[in-house]
Amino acid sequence: MTISWVPVPPESHFPIANLPYGVASRRSGPSGQERHIAPPRPVVRIGDHVLPLSVTGNGLFDAATLNPFLAAGPDTWDAVRARLIELLTDKAHRPWVEPLLIPVAEVITHLPFEVADYVDFYASEHHAANVGRLFRPDTEPLLPNWKHLPVGYHGRAGTVVVSCTDIVRPCGQRNTPDGPVYGASRRLDIEAEVGFVVGMPSALGSRVSTRDFADHVFGAVLVNDWSARDVQAWEYVPLGPFLGKSFATSISPWVVPLAALADARVAGPAQDPPVLDYLREDEPWGLDLDMEVRWNGHPVSRPPFRAMYWSAAQQLAHLTVNGASLRTGDLFASGTVSGPAKDQRGSFLELTWDGAEPVTLPDGTSRTFLEDGDDVSITATAPGLGGSRIGFGEVTGRILPARP
Ligand code: MN
Repeated sequence: MTISWVPVPPESHFPIANLPYGVASRRSGPSGQERHIAPPRPVVRIGDHVLPLSVTGNGLFDAATLNPFLAAGPDTWDAVRARLIELLTDKAHRPWVEPLLIPVAEVITHLPFEVADYVDFYASEHHAANVGRLFRPDTEPLLPNWKHLPVGYHGRAGTVVVSCTDIVRPCGQRNTPDGPVYGASRRLDIEAEVGFVVGMPSALGSRVSTRDFADHVFGAVLVNDWSARDVQAWEYVPLGPFLGKSFATSISPWVVPLAALADARVAGPAQDPPVLDYLREDEPWGLDLDMEVRWNGHPVSRPPFRAMYWSAAQQLAHLTVNGASLRTGDLFASGTVSGPAKDQRGSFLELTWDGAEPVTLPDGTSRTFLEDGDDVSITATAPGLGGSRIGFGEVTGRILPARP
């Protein structure tokens, strides 16, 4: 991989090998009193700068979201990426491109794409088994279908928010020994996940095979699937998650294109029993991502995405096997990423074993679930092209008190 003329700090998640896309507007004024001085527009991130994608001269970027670009398909994705690499590495372009760079500290990032449909899967065997042990202690941890199909549910696209959006503690119904009550959730949790963003739509009635994954999926983001465990535990039988999940889902502002993840591809765990034909992969779509969860700035978990039992390509094949169509902007998330070790668990439900094993933070306080004022950040890095290291930046959010 060539070197960019833009200076990139050595530990940056955003070297030339990455080039993730987002939507940003320029701001001015002190933190907390920022004013937009330009409308949100698509940008690419390099090091500590963003470059407006209007630099490519492509009309797809005269929009406040990446959706027109996502819908344009793989040939356009490749052409734009090739052009950006040329502009950012060939010094001949430096004199006219450099003045267009904006320090990332001077921009506000926005939701990078308009989310069409949102699906959340449940692809970590360690997470599914942990939750099974906690929610159904007297039965087998994994239900009989779990190793035959990627279990998932349809979530609420309209409440997907960009990183840094405050999360108001949800209210809802929970069960108690004296019967159901209404009030603020007392068991507010996170789920550290990776989400995949659909670019090219598919026709109603057609299927997308594992082989066609990269024709439809543009890239990936980090996801925090905020979860109210007390609401969830009472409502989820028999139809699955509903209000315990739908109040907010946070995503990172940078969409890392699949093209940047080519060297991160790995085979997932061996699948036994063998999966049905439509779920087979010719080439693996597991990804070797190292994730980290920080609770009030303190690292509490390092979930390994490579341990996921089901790949995103298998999830997409399953999602469409009944003929359900894809739309540009569809987001499907992996499900909580948990590894086998305690410090690899991607939810606080698992990390504190349903509150029985509190986490102690450096300030001496202990936690089981989220308290008002807490913030959580999830980051991830991956092998990049040419031996580099790339990253996803972070998805972060802070809990505000429930509304009275
Ligand atoms: Mn989830």
